[in-house]
Amino acid sequence: MRERTNKPVLYIVIPCYNEEKVLPVTGPVFLQELDDLIQAERISDDSRILFVDDGSKDHTWQLISNFAKDNKHFIGISQSRNRGHQSAVLAGLMEALTKCDISISIDCDGQDDVHAMEDMISEYENGCEVVYGVRDNRDTDTRFKRFTAEGFYRILKWMGADVVFNHADYRLLSGRVLQELAEFKEVNLYLRGMIPLIGFKSTSVYYKRRERAAGISHYPLSKMLSLAFDGITSLSVKPLRMIGGIGLCVALLSFIGVVWSVLRFFGGNTVTGWASMTSLICFLGGVQLIGLGVLGEYIGKIYMEVKARPRYLIEKRTFP
Ligand code: UDP
Ligand code: MG
Repeated sequence: MRERTNKPVLYIVIPCYNEEKVLPVTGPVFLQELDDLIQAERISDDSRILFVDDGSKDHTWQLISNFAKDNKHFIGISQSRNRGHQSAVLAGLMEALTKCDISISIDCDGQDDVHAMEDMISEYENGCEVVYGVRDNRDTDTRFKRFTAEGFYRILKWMGADVVFNHADYRLLSGRVLQELAEFKEVNLYLRGMIPLIGFKSTSVYYKRRERAAGISHYPLSKMLSLAFDGITSLSVKPLRMIGGIGLCVALLSFIGVVWSVLRFFGGNTVTGWASMTSLICFLGGVQLIGLGVLGEYIGKIYMEVKARPRYLIEKRTFP
């Protein structure tokens, strides 16, 4: 393991997917921040900005290659195809693992304030191994996104998964934590949930999240829902337990129904209702299908884990 040095080597890991519009704007911003940190002697000159092209279909890779040609502080790797944000971040972190003392992952769209890195590094200097970037407020999000995101964090907490409220994937990890992260072999990736499981001394720094500098979000509602669902099922088995709970409630209700119908029978009032029968059948059918769906989701996850396919595949690098 690398020693904790005064001037640590920092790797800023930046996932990029079809970001040709935003990279020319944010690339120089990242470089300025890195230069400032180097000038202030807070980090070593061996620090790098590591772009991870997540199989973009536009000119993102050309832009990254050009950055790398122009300035030694820029480097890039490219996934062999689009594998998603989490996979891209992990690929970058694992690439950085052997080369850096600290990593900071951040989105490439300029929404996260790069100056928060200074506070993150201060916290690292104070002995923290994990520093979460937490946004102060969600003013720049639509009301819908704010509502769904906050609801989601609450559900996750309730399900027993320890996630940091309003923290996305902007975070500092020390080399030590990266090493432990490498031991987490799961292919169902949800880094926000995995990092708290690693433990170590951690803290949060706060920043204001802005609008995207350019381009469009790659997280439409469908992707957001699928990430949310992945988050829950990767971190918690509570939904499985809930099926048992729902089954128990339904069974109790049915028992009351049976007692009720027997009493009606002895009361001589046995005209059976079609409506109540049909609704019961539909209701029970629905409950069973939901139960099966949740079970299926977990079985699907087990299937993916058992195959243990690589979680990322790097095709190209801008360096040897
Ligand atoms: N991203 C990625 N692969 C994908 C989708 C997104 O690497 O399949 C990157 C994207 O380039 C950006 C970050 O993940 O740097 C967050 O994406 P985005 O800004 O579109 O999401 P939002 O901030 O709107 O939730
Ligand atoms: Mg964004």
